Amino acid sequence: AKSSGPGNLRVFHPSLKESIQSRIDFESALKEALEKKQFFLCYQPQVLASDGRTVCLEALIRWQHPTYGLVMPDRFIQLAESMGLIALIGAWVIDSACEQLARWRAMGFEEVRVAVNLSAQQLLDPDLEETVTRALERSSLSGSDLELEITESVLMQDPERSIERLSALRKLGVRLSIDDFGTGYSSLGYLRVLPVHAFKLDRSFVRDIGNGGKDLEICATSIGLAKNLGLEIVAEGVETEAQMQQLRTLGCHLLQGYFFAKPLIVEAASHFLTSCSHK
Ligand code: C2E
Ligand code: CA
Ligand code: CA
Ligand code: CA
Repeated sequence: AKSSGPGNLRVFHPSLKESIQSRIDFESALKEALEKKQFFLCYQPQVLASDGRTVCLEALIRWQHPTYGLVMPDRFIQLAESMGLIALIGAWVIDSACEQLARWRAMGFEEVRVAVNLSAQQLLDPDLEETVTRALERSSLSGSDLELEITESVLMQDPERSIERLSALRKLGVRLSIDDFGTGYSSLGYLRVLPVHAFKLDRSFVRDIGNGGKDLEICATSIGLAKNLGLEIVAEGVETEAQMQQLRTLGCHLLQGYFFAKPLIVEAASHFLTSCSHK
């Protein structure tokens, strides 16, 4: 229906009843998504700043729905958490990413690992260790082939508990990194004792690195801090050559972003690995 005057404006605003109904529909679709095999993973390369070799592929979930189309994680991950679905979805992600890495290994790509994002509830879930162990076993991988990314703000919700959980995960040999580093207001005291391997510098700082503001300082300080703590640092959201150059100059280890590759479907990720000849 087209608006022909102020009286018709309501056609553009769904009524409360309609919006509640559409929310219910979205939720029941999400409930069925796993069973209906509507999720898939894209993979975004993380490359060495020194020579451009890919060392890691970050798995990023997508939901392909027959009527909603391609749904991005920002629209359903939190909802999945609140609906109690995240443990199952998260286990599927870990499993699929490990399975895919095993395929890449079989194709001769020996050097790459995969990274998976963890939600707050997954981190606290005592079954997570078993989920990870089983996935690694099933794909004949070792712990260091898998990296788990947890956002700084999730870790800072309950730092003591986070340290416990991270320590338990670390015993499995997996790599751990702090995602969206710089946005979670960590105290330096906690940063020193979090048992992680890497920081992932949030892309908001990388974005404005060349604009002559404070962001260059923040990037430089974060990189320096990581190095002093003996950790690796990954810059995310690298979109331009200038940003890449700046980050290399600052001594950042790993780079990730559209400048190198967008999140890629499996075939494209395999092609990316091949074209950069990682064998
Ligand atoms: P994230 O972990 O910080 O992932 C990076 C996001 O930035 C991804 O969005 C990626 O596509 C995007 N990105 C990468 N490079 C660039 C760049 O150069 N420029 C810009 N502008 N953006 C870039 P995506 O895939 O939509 O994922 C959004 C968030 O959803 C992720 O943020 C992560 O927190 C969450 N997420 C994705 N997959 C999963 C999953 O399997 N489990 C859980 N719990 N969360 C997930
Ligand atoms: Ca991430
Ligand atoms: Ca991030
Ligand atoms: Ca993020």
